[in-house]
Amino acid sequence: MSSPNWKALFLYISLWKRFPRLAFMAVCFSLSVAINATIVPLLIAIILGQLIHTHTINVGLLIFTAVFQFAFVAISWSLDKYGVAKLHLSVEYLLYEEPFNYLVHQDYSFFADRFGGSLVTQASRFAKAYTTFNDTVLFDMIPQVVATLMAVVIICFYNLYIGVTVFTVWLIAITMVVRFGLTRLPLRRSAVAKESEQVGELADVISNAITVKTFGAEDREKRRYQVINLDRSRYFLRSWHRAVRNVWAVEVVCAILQMIILVGGILAIRNGSIGFATFLLFQVYIMRIIENIRRSSMIVRQMEVVAGDAQEMTELLEQPPLIQDSPDAKHVDIKSGVIEFKNMSFQYDSKRITNKSLFRDFNLRVEAGQKVGLVGPSGGGKTTLTRLLLRFLDILEGSITIDGISISDIPQQDLRRSIAYVPQEPLLFHRSIKDNIRYGKPEATDEEIISVSKKAYAHEFIKELKDGYDTLVGERGVKLSGGQRQRVAIARAMLTDAPILVLDEATSALDSESEKTIQKALWSLMKDKTTVVIAHRLSTIQRLDRIVVIERGDIKEDGSHSALLKNKGLYSRLWSHQSGGFLEEQDS
Ligand code: ATP
Repeated sequence: MSSPNWKALFLYISLWKRFPRLAFMAVCFSLSVAINATIVPLLIAIILGQLIHTHTINVGLLIFTAVFQFAFVAISWSLDKYGVAKLHLSVEYLLYEEPFNYLVHQDYSFFADRFGGSLVTQASRFAKAYTTFNDTVLFDMIPQVVATLMAVVIICFYNLYIGVTVFTVWLIAITMVVRFGLTRLPLRRSAVAKESEQVGELADVISNAITVKTFGAEDREKRRYQVINLDRSRYFLRSWHRAVRNVWAVEVVCAILQMIILVGGILAIRNGSIGFATFLLFQVYIMRIIENIRRSSMIVRQMEVVAGDAQEMTELLEQPPLIQDSPDAKHVDIKSGVIEFKNMSFQYDSKRITNKSLFRDFNLRVEAGQKVGLVGPSGGGKTTLTRLLLRFLDILEGSITIDGISISDIPQQDLRRSIAYVPQEPLLFHRSIKDNIRYGKPEATDEEIISVSKKAYAHEFIKELKDGYDTLVGERGVKLSGGQRQRVAIARAMLTDAPILVLDEATSALDSESEKTIQKALWSLMKDKTTVVIAHRLSTIQRLDRIVVIERGDIKEDGSHSALLKNKGLYSRLWSHQSGGFLEEQDS
């Protein structure tokens, strides 16, 4: 049997604690509903009892009952309007905010290891689950428990034996309901995990829709999805079957309870300990209690759904991001941009250095303002070096410093703001082109945006779009060509004006002609900046101060273009494979 999700419960309580006044009003609302539900039948029973015995109606009590009921309804609706609704919305607001704030601070590995679609579903399921939980506790659980306890106290007042028996059977029923619920919890959690898998698969196929079409693989994907979907249904069915079995067991206990109050009530009337009006009152109460037990069963089922649905996100919220600012990290203004990797070791998916580590004792120093090209066979670790420099990933040993300060001592936001980074496949927000370019400098004016766009040779194509700079670019920028996306990303980086520039195949999607023109803009951008350029087209880096050849995480060669050509090593071989294919080489 799985334990309940206590951490989730604490999280929920912590949300409530942020609104103590509202929470108090909400509890008062629940209590007023419960009081109304038990006291009004009691007053009616008293009036009825007097009518039976004295054949008179106590008009005062009758008016009091009506006023009492009206007053409590008015109180509860006022509390509902000013307390419960606000609490509901405030908690819901936090529930949507909490996962967003958490996800936005997560690190590279977190996103690399998970499906985006699943995360989106988990976050929204989390908020919905707790909103349901909140409503269930306020509108169902508290009023029901209080109403039942009050009914039991009133029954005890008239007949202690019946009251104690009812209370005992109610306790047994509730214990059964909760225990049954807990046995179902693991099933529900597994079902929800399957559903996340299914949503992840759906999101993956949607983002690869063009690949599916290219390979005519629609039927194959449909079959694959059917298998996953069927698996999900099977898990939900098992969880559902368990719930139905639980309902039967609870119904048996309810029937026993009904018989106890019926037989007990009749016996009590016969021995004269209660009157007919009290007997009717018991019947009203027992109906309510039985209804409450049935509702409890539903509440527990709802709680299971909540716990199961919120489980994945709650577990994530419990895991702090792997990459965090050190407590001693102080604001740093990086000026010169000297980069140094010192005895650095790193391995993906491993907490220790092994023979298979990508980098072992890696050393590289880039002086302030120096322009360095990183080249080498695919998979050698060039992009990984830039990820490590940006601290998307943490190294295992050694150090990476900028201007002599370890990057782990620099707040991550300061670090990344001091590096203008154009990645291999720049992704854009589904916002206007203007907003995408402005992302690097939110306060940039329209003139600045147009100026950098001209430098990045993006202005021409942007002008021709239907809404110019206000054109929405589609999810991840799909409405732009690869080359256009790169130009927007370069303009964005230009606007940043950071002391360090990292270009990872930043112009690979451009045709040679555009690349040649954009290179000029990049040269002016690189001026006075420490620059790291990764390129497979060697022609784009031959004029840099220094070229570092990296193979399997090792520096194989290091020097200027001409020195490396003379070396007749790996670089020279790569160059000869490419020579003749690029304009720059023919020019030079
Ligand atoms: P390319 O020139 O093809 O872009 P690269 O030199 O930039 O290659 P990297 O992208 O740094 O190479 O990859 C280096 C190695 O690390 C590769 O073997 C790659 O499979 C592995 N790798 C890259 N990203 C991850 C990741 N997120 N998780 C695990 N391994 C990874």
